[in-house]
Amino acid sequence: MTNLLKEIPNSYIIPFSYRAEHYPPLDRGLSDKSFAYFKDTSIEEIRELWKRTLSSPLGLSHPILLYVHWPFCSSYCSFCRFGMESSSHHKEQELVLNSLREEMGRFKDTFKGISFPSLYIGGGTPTFMTDAMLENFLSAIRESFKLAPGAQIHVDASPATLTESKLKILIRHGANRMTLGIQTFDAQVLGRIDRKGQDEQKVRTLFALFRKFPDLFIDTDMMIGLEGQRDSTFVKDFSRILTLSPHSIHLYPFADDERTLWKKRGKKVVLNQKDRNSHLLNLADYMARKAGYVTGYEDWETLKQNSWETRHEALWRDFRASILGIGYGALSHIFGAAWYYHPKPPPEGVSNNAVPPIKMLEFDVEEEMRGYVIESIVRNNKISREAFRRLFHQDISECASVFHALEEFQKRGLIKIDSRALYWRGQDIVERAVALQSLYSPKMAEALIQSTLRLNHTHAFEGASSEQRIRARQGHIDCRIYYRRSLFEDACCPEYLLGRS
Ligand code: SF4
Repeated sequence: MTNLLKEIPNSYIIPFSYRAEHYPPLDRGLSDKSFAYFKDTSIEEIRELWKRTLSSPLGLSHPILLYVHWPFCSSYCSFCRFGMESSSHHKEQELVLNSLREEMGRFKDTFKGISFPSLYIGGGTPTFMTDAMLENFLSAIRESFKLAPGAQIHVDASPATLTESKLKILIRHGANRMTLGIQTFDAQVLGRIDRKGQDEQKVRTLFALFRKFPDLFIDTDMMIGLEGQRDSTFVKDFSRILTLSPHSIHLYPFADDERTLWKKRGKKVVLNQKDRNSHLLNLADYMARKAGYVTGYEDWETLKQNSWETRHEALWRDFRASILGIGYGALSHIFGAAWYYHPKPPPEGVSNNAVPPIKMLEFDVEEEMRGYVIESIVRNNKISREAFRRLFHQDISECASVFHALEEFQKRGLIKIDSRALYWRGQDIVERAVALQSLYSPKMAEALIQSTLRLNHTHAFEGASSEQRIRARQGHIDCRIYYRRSLFEDACCPEYLLGRS
């Protein structure tokens, strides 16, 4: 398997906690450290890049999405790898809110001709704001940017912080989709993972409220393999969420990531944790199907056509959409020009009306093509030539640098190329990760090597068998998604997705 390591020059292995198969590669939890190869820049330069993209036919032919980040949570859960701030100081939150207003104001003119099809309000926990702050926050977004008719407005929420009055404020401002992070109902497990202010009754009360807003799509997050969670606890948790009947359920396996408080406390997963997780995932599949859910993955072809998928994800994934990210901790993408990131709020606090600092990586259209090829292989094992032409207004063979590398893969039996598509034939996902890194541009590889994200082969492989590496990786990515079966039926989903073939 690892022969490729020797065979392919310029191939690098990024530690598995990094999204090596996302291009540019980024850390899964978006920790500030992972932007070590991004350079400092100013908001003036960023505005110029946006103007350039917004005046180019190719840039404008890609959707433009709006993301606003709220970097605070009411408590810091021990399993969380996002390194969120927990701040009970409203003063600090007020300062961050002022900074958001300031940043939005600076972009207002640049985007005045744009109607965003999707607004994602993420975090952190946006519902941690007080009612007054939330009202102020949502009004500021509406005053600065225009949303397209029928835009999807998605908000992250937690049972500890969402109240009836906040829900009403959100609905009044057009929210039509919500992810409620529940994770577990078990009081003991909640205590072990430091998730405060949440109990089963609160969740049930919220679901009773949601029923008053039938157009609101409810997605929920649950976890598997949490500290103190026994098999029986998990089964109870999962039965409870099924009886509440949300539109979709994301089920995430716990990952022993170095950025979690859990890991920082020196804890270790038990040896058979991953086997246990996979056993429980199978059990969850069975229970979900019995309860009328369809088990799925986010890259199902059919999902993208339906409004009930997270539009933000779908448009980014399928069209390499541009993303205007606002606020400390937000990531942005200017198609064909740059990626940039605002770090999380500094420990010493935020100055009044200060726009967050910016770290930027220059990108161009050829880099976009590399990204599209890498991510299509990872998600679909295939690159459709028609989809490539639609996005880049040329055939993939016209991008010589990328196509040449793909022809090399063909000689090694890793890819089959025909007039309709390129099909990935490799079997081993670690081998795939190695191979795809040879599609990185020399400029990208150099930037990574020069940065503190220094890449080398041994980092990820040392001491681990091929089997262990694959399992380790699966532990990070095997999130399941369950959708109510009726949604699929409404959407005329192909028979095979309903398990009737
Ligand atoms: S509420 Fe969510 S984002 Fe905040 S610490 Fe917990 S898991 Fe992380």
